Amino acid sequence: MSPLYFEDFLVNISRKPLRVLDTSIKNSKYIHLDLSQDHVELQGVDVSSSTKLETYITNYIKKQHALVAFGGYNEIRTIYKRSIYFNAAPTKERNIHIGIDLWCGAETPVYTPLDATVHSFKNNTNYGDYGPTIILKHRINTVEFYTLYGHLSLASIEDLKVNQVFKQGEQIGALGDTVVNGDYPSHLHFQIIRDLQGFNGDYPGVCNITDLDFYLDNCPNPNLLLKL
Ligand SMILES: [Zn+2]
Repeated sequence: MSPLYFEDFLVNISRKPLRVLDTSIKNSKYIHLDLSQDHVELQGVDVSSSTKLETYITNYIKKQHALVAFGGYNEIRTIYKRSIYFNAAPTKERNIHIGIDLWCGAETPVYTPLDATVHSFKNNTNYGDYGPTIILKHRINTVEFYTLYGHLSLASIEDLKVNQVFKQGEQIGALGDTVVNGDYPSHLHFQIIRDLQGFNGDYPGVCNITDLDFYLDNCPNPNLLLKL
């Protein structure tokens, strides 16, 4: 299936928006957040400090009378400069975000948007990494693909089992706090993955410009499902 056809397939899974957070939160309560390196308003904020970034995001959500800030697909960010995990030689700097982030409070429940089985899960503990992470496998008609949920709470993966079944809309976990989530303001990293390339409980969520075309094809915009 070509990348474009797969995007069409994702869009057409559901006419209604699919949800990974509380279904009672209306689309109008989601506000787009620009964390790109070119965003002027952000240039006065020390994004390497999770507390300063959290203050900025919390105020931004409040000011807009929203409940969740979202964004970040195919976004070039400076925040990853703070961690060697994204910058260690011989790998090239990884600074382009290829999932979507949903910024809201720790312990917010996370739901599967589609029927799923658990492919894998892991606590990814590098500085700036996902922390507790779950990868779900979906099979719709004959098409298989995966979704990744990063920055969860430790409890989310405590009693989880590989191949565990979740029905659409069932809770799979909850958001972690700064202590366990790689040192970020609490948020969900949600990513669609076609080919997992042998990864287990982990998959790159940020890439280098030279690999961008591959990752954009392999990880289409999660907003095709969320429709925010
Ligand atoms: Zn993210």
